Amino acid sequence: MNITVLGSGTSVGVPTIGCHCPVCTSDDPRDRRLRPSVLVRWDGHAVLIDTTPDFRQQALAAHIERLDAVLITHAHADHIMGLDDVRPLNFRTPGPLPVYGSADGIATIRRTFQYIFDTGPTESSLPKIDTRVFDGEHPLRIGGVDFVPIRLAHGSGTVYGFRFGEAAYLTDHSDIPPESREKLHNLDVLFLDALRYRPHPTHSTIERSLETVEELQPRRAFFTHICHDLPHKETEARLPANVRLAYDGLVIHVGAPASFRVFRSLAEVPSDFGPCALTIGNFDGVHAAHRFIMSRVAAIAHERGWRAAAMTFDPHPTAIVAPEKRPQLLTGIDRRTELMRQAGLDEVLVLPFTPEVARLSAERFIREIVTGRMDARAVVVGHNFHFGRGAAGDTAMLHELGQFYGFEVEISPAVRYRHHVVGSTQVRQFIAHGDMMNAWRMLQRPFALEGAVVPGAGIGKQQTVPTLNLSEQTGLVPLAGVYVTRTHDPDDGREWRSVSNVGMRPTFGGNHLSIETFLLSPFDGRTPERIRVEFLYRLRDERKFESAEALKAQILRDARRAQRFLRLTEKFL
Ligand SMILES: [Zn+2]
Ligand SMILES: [Zn+2]
Ligand SMILES: [Zn+2]
Repeated sequence: MNITVLGSGTSVGVPTIGCHCPVCTSDDPRDRRLRPSVLVRWDGHAVLIDTTPDFRQQALAAHIERLDAVLITHAHADHIMGLDDVRPLNFRTPGPLPVYGSADGIATIRRTFQYIFDTGPTESSLPKIDTRVFDGEHPLRIGGVDFVPIRLAHGSGTVYGFRFGEAAYLTDHSDIPPESREKLHNLDVLFLDALRYRPHPTHSTIERSLETVEELQPRRAFFTHICHDLPHKETEARLPANVRLAYDGLVIHVGAPASFRVFRSLAEVPSDFGPCALTIGNFDGVHAAHRFIMSRVAAIAHERGWRAAAMTFDPHPTAIVAPEKRPQLLTGIDRRTELMRQAGLDEVLVLPFTPEVARLSAERFIREIVTGRMDARAVVVGHNFHFGRGAAGDTAMLHELGQFYGFEVEISPAVRYRHHVVGSTQVRQFIAHGDMMNAWRMLQRPFALEGAVVPGAGIGKQQTVPTLNLSEQTGLVPLAGVYVTRTHDPDDGREWRSVSNVGMRPTFGGNHLSIETFLLSPFDGRTPERIRVEFLYRLRDERKFESAEALKAQILRDARRAQRFLRLTEKFL
């Protein structure tokens, strides 16, 4: 099933007659908004919601040749005045066209278009229309699909939206009553009235519709019935990635698979994969700049009804092409794909980076994998993206290949934090120097290590305070020292304030790297099997103490400083 937006504008349309505001004079085609209407198509069926004064123009643009039915949300002029223009459709289909509306709506239509329903003989051709009243309780079954009327308040009046399958279209409304909200769960696509920012007595606003999205949790939402207060580009930039402004001509595919999928090789990618918006990269750490790129991929994909996809590599390509330079990674591949899911992606291909992949030329990499297997229609990458054998492909070449193979290319600018460009190498340097606060800012979350809890020397437990020892780590570990941390049990969600020691335990004559965590908040004694330790702030260097007592006194001082730090930063965690 797909939904075509025939019009996304408010009652007077945009541009508005006589208005010279920036939106009414904008060059952006998405700022031209006909009166609000959508066309729903599936398996050769087509249902039109509302016949606006712009219907003729809209029908020509969307190549409407026949309709199963028209649904009327309410009988305001901006939603019905094009009804007469269904006449050419009558020539193409036998029998009258069913027009469904509420009792009020149909009564107004019969009054407004009285000439259509007069019974006397006439010389001119009239639309052949079969008006059908719905009661607002029972679904209307059309072409095997149930259209469920959704009662809405439009100022003091009652109007209807419709739910069909996993989609719902709720134009003009100021409020959605609780019993209607009950019918709007588990949606893939939700259209909502969002006239402007300023309140209006009969329409919803951006802010109120965002609250509705927050409450109903559709996978994607589109705002419509938009006035000239809202420039498309600037307004969208302020919306979450799963909320977009509708625009005339937009087509949305409903019910694309919603679950997150990870493919571990090209062979696992199904032959009908795509179309998708795609990003490509190592994404080690999934830091702020990666997340920005992924939010663009998700936004483009949601707008076009494509899948939001990423291609990443395992092992890190440097491990194959220059093993001596291979970086110590911030995130293992499982953690990385989980963070990519959280960043809004639907699909991740983890391409095993083999010598064969390394030998693919830039052009073959794009032709065979990016368009051939993944059917990418848009590719979003960072400004320093390189691809293909010898990293010979750059963003200029990607633009050329995009024009040749028919995909859009968007290059994401560098994201800066203070005087640093956000990047995985920079984050690794911060962590290697124990600068956890700057790493935190670039990652947009504290750097964490996760692993099994292993028996330590046991010394901590007997001589000082309860401790949990983290199993050996394969990736990057913070500079040796003592840190304020937070410790989680990923299996049951328990969490504790903690202080962690990264180092050799010199007081006890240790000789291999250990990561030992002292819990500061109450512990019920059940030792977790796994823990995740978030490193928040480096308190001091690791030091050798003269005695276990001297160490214990220092640990108490560390604990007091850690508690103070945690109290101050609680609101950010
Ligand atoms: Zn309206
Ligand atoms: Zn204007
Ligand atoms: Zn209205």
